[in-house]
Amino acid sequence: MKNLLLKSLEEIELIRESSQIVSKTLGMLANEIKPGVTTLKLDSLAESFIRDHDAEPGFLGLYGFPNTLCVSPNSQVVHGLPNKKPLKNGDIISIDCGVLKNEFYGDHAYTFTVGDVSDEIEELLYVTKASLYIGIREFKLNNRVGDVGYAIQNYCESYGYGVVRELVGHGIGRSMHEGPEMPNYGKRGRGKKFRDGMVVAIEPMINLGTHRVNHHKDGWTITTKDNLPSAHYEHNIALIDGKPELLSTFNYIYDSLGIKNKEEEEFKNYKI
Ligand code: MG
Ligand code: MG
Repeated sequence: MKNLLLKSLEEIELIRESSQIVSKTLGMLANEIKPGVTTLKLDSLAESFIRDHDAEPGFLGLYGFPNTLCVSPNSQVVHGLPNKKPLKNGDIISIDCGVLKNEFYGDHAYTFTVGDVSDEIEELLYVTKASLYIGIREFKLNNRVGDVGYAIQNYCESYGYGVVRELVGHGIGRSMHEGPEMPNYGKRGRGKKFRDGMVVAIEPMINLGTHRVNHHKDGWTITTKDNLPSAHYEHNIALIDGKPELLSTFNYIYDSLGIKNKEEEEFKNYKI
């Protein structure tokens, strides 16, 4: 992983452009995710959509990954491979997508419900997404990497959930994965100090049960050790004028699903 690279405002705008194409892709997919659809179909729709926006799928070929989307249903945590198995009522599915445009990457993820899910799973999703914003609030001038991780861990563990240790968020820019690593666990006041111009992907991966995971023989798929469900949400955020600025948005998803949601408004500080 490359060392921390601070970005100019011009570079941040290019990351925002790539990130917004991911946001729109997830918004398009929100209309397609229903019982009966296969993840290979979603993958093909996403690839066409990204190319229609004069961009490249950011994951395809990265470290040898064979697809556009990482699709991780139910007990899969992240990095699941699209396949021909239809989604069914009651599933949840994390869809993680990357885009490369103008030599800069965007990368974020949302966990969707398929039909009706149990109250227990609804709460896991609610808490995991809330923890993402709790973490983002700590991404501010002179705070440190450990402040973000501590805030996410403390909140999620108060619900008895498992915070995945083996996979972490990251810096993003001309590479998909740059420093610093952004764990979803940690100690206050520890780790690299945040400075204006940093751009990161914060991405809590939170399990209903144990935090422990299994790595599968396909070299990609990661599941929870107890096979209980796992949730994953990710945003891209720049530090501008000391404050976190969201470069990605879930609002295209909410538009598709007919949901009114103002959760992102506090993170739109920077006006161009
Ligand atoms: Mg991602
Ligand atoms: Mg990421």
